Amino acid sequence: MTDTFTASHADNPLLQDWNTPHGLPPFSLFQPAHFAPAFEAAMQAHRDELDAIAQQADAPSFDNTVAAFDRCGRLLGRVEAVFRNLTSSQTSPALQAVQREMAGPLAAHANSVYMNAALFARIDTLHEARTTLGLTPEQLRLLERTHFDFVSSGARLKGADQARYAAVMEELARLTTLFGQNVLHDEASYQLVLRTEDELAGLPGFVRDAARQAAVDRGLQDDAQAHVITLSRSLIVPFLTFSTRRDLREQAWRAWTSRGEHLGEHDNREVARAILKLRREQARLHGYASYADYALVDRMAGTQQAVKQLLDEVWPRALAAVERERQMLRAAMVDAGQGADAVIEPWDWRVWAEKVRVQRYAVDDAEVKPYFRLDRMVEAAFDCAGRLFGLQFAHRPDLPLYHPDVKAYEVRNASGQVCGIFLQDNFARPTKRSGAWMSSLRWQNRNVPQGAALQSHSGVALTVQAGAAEIPVILNNNNFAKGAPGAPTLLSMDDVRTLFHEFGHGLHGLLSNVTYERLSGTQVLRDFVELPSQMFEHWTSEPAVLKQHARHWQTDEPIPDELLARIQRARRFNQGYETVRYTASALVDMAVHSLTDDEPPADLCAFEAQELQRLGLPHGVGLNHRLVHFQHLFSGSGYAAGYYVYLWAEVLDADAFDAFVEAGDPFDAQVAQALQRFIYASGNSLEPREAFAAFRGRAARVEPMLRKKGLIEDGQAA
Ligand SMILES: [Zn+2]
Repeated sequence: MTDTFTASHADNPLLQDWNTPHGLPPFSLFQPAHFAPAFEAAMQAHRDELDAIAQQADAPSFDNTVAAFDRCGRLLGRVEAVFRNLTSSQTSPALQAVQREMAGPLAAHANSVYMNAALFARIDTLHEARTTLGLTPEQLRLLERTHFDFVSSGARLKGADQARYAAVMEELARLTTLFGQNVLHDEASYQLVLRTEDELAGLPGFVRDAARQAAVDRGLQDDAQAHVITLSRSLIVPFLTFSTRRDLREQAWRAWTSRGEHLGEHDNREVARAILKLRREQARLHGYASYADYALVDRMAGTQQAVKQLLDEVWPRALAAVERERQMLRAAMVDAGQGADAVIEPWDWRVWAEKVRVQRYAVDDAEVKPYFRLDRMVEAAFDCAGRLFGLQFAHRPDLPLYHPDVKAYEVRNASGQVCGIFLQDNFARPTKRSGAWMSSLRWQNRNVPQGAALQSHSGVALTVQAGAAEIPVILNNNNFAKGAPGAPTLLSMDDVRTLFHEFGHGLHGLLSNVTYERLSGTQVLRDFVELPSQMFEHWTSEPAVLKQHARHWQTDEPIPDELLARIQRARRFNQGYETVRYTASALVDMAVHSLTDDEPPADLCAFEAQELQRLGLPHGVGLNHRLVHFQHLFSGSGYAAGYYVYLWAEVLDADAFDAFVEAGDPFDAQVAQALQRFIYASGNSLEPREAFAAFRGRAARVEPMLRKKGLIEDGQAA
């Protein structure tokens, strides 16, 4: 490393010590132009660290090789974490350009890490001897995990195969980046502007308020009549639920479901095909017939057969349930004077379902939402974390953040020590991708590198206490429609579940209590990761929680018992519709990733339509996760051949929550303690089936999930 190189980075805030409270990123100092040079310097620092491990004269030991590998790359991890969070939540054309520019080099760097032959040889030697090394269970887990990471990233490939594998991975990184940017483009560029009462017909006040706010956010503040429906879930779904303008619903539905399918430079059809072709090659280089076979090796499910068995358990029951719901919708249509042969189109289902919900269960969103103020529901989530795990959240408005909407909290554990920082970014905006997610800026761990080791290589000043532990910095992103100025943001029950879901992931990060960074927080198998999040959703239905926190935003009255009872009765209604849509998406994902031909289908949209027809997706139940914008599958690879994981985890979470039901208390201290120890705090330090069994005393059963979804009656076996 030359002095010139060091000097050129001296003023790059991404590479300096962050002397902020809790070492949070000083976001206001970062410019898009800082990222590429910071990535280059951090990758160089990482390579130097890896060479130092690989080239050392000492024989491989767990500490000088495996634990040392876990300690290195922290500077790169830090820069990447900041970059990922900004490109997801507060992006810009300049950041997107860096994203496109760096996707290839970052993938190439990852290849060079896992294809470092000298390094892998040391890890492989230790792995061979793993049972004789006297390792703790967590150390053994780290060794096995690290070894698996190398093997599944191509470490065992030879010569030309390894070179080809590296090229495939770089091209995949480029294409998945492009795919996500194309979806964001189509979402950001669509808006349905409503101005007249006729165009706003049917929309309750909260939808109008949110649509007005969206108009302001999109620069239409001077157009006093303008209301904007965007493709953000928290606007498009209420619009499709309440608008009585069938023509506008159809228009909005088509815009929502055709994202990524427009001719021109943002067309995702060929991008998705190219990704599938490369994934097939990736799998073949590893000796697997299909990408699904390759991906499932690193999942609890293990095989396509296990996934298929679960989906098959649910699919016919969900079809039967949706048929019962269709009959109810049809009856409501006849009551409303529509002909018995009127067709229910995908843009009609939600409107009629809402009518049935109001008629049969006397529950409508417009009555419910005033009780679900966003800030109160955040308090409810914090309160549940306090009652279950002893956590306390203190708002810290002084901490540096990247957008005024983000809130930072200092989190203390039951002993009163600060155990993490939690950032919550709740509102939709055009610079944020759609959906809801948890991410991290720093993982909890007790394997922090010594400052000197880092400084001696790259010249980059990153000083950390030797042997110190790091507390996690965890983010939650939601896409709620912000209330009008002066008015609170009100949530639907769906939104409340999303809030708790992401907070459950957040707790998985915040409660993490492991030694090694690789095993920390949510870095678990993909079909286990939704357990802590979906588990936490259960507390949104607990009367004890709702009576305390669901208060009318104007009167402060707690939600009335009889409204609560109506909400509980209505809970299972329309679950057939939701389950069919989800399961169909999961089945199409498995279908497209289990293909064994070298060439993907020439026309992906036609393939998708054929699959749905073969499965018997009922008319009127449209999908909003179509392949051309299915970010789970194509904006990265984490959920490819993995959309089923939510259902898999639901088997776990429904059964796990039953432990509280059996104890007779949703906050039972003993159950909560076991839940924390084996599920929320253990990260990837335990094998997932063992972790579940340690909590529950046995393996998970499928019945509680089927019952929860209303797919079997209480008392009936399945
Ligand atoms: Zn999740």
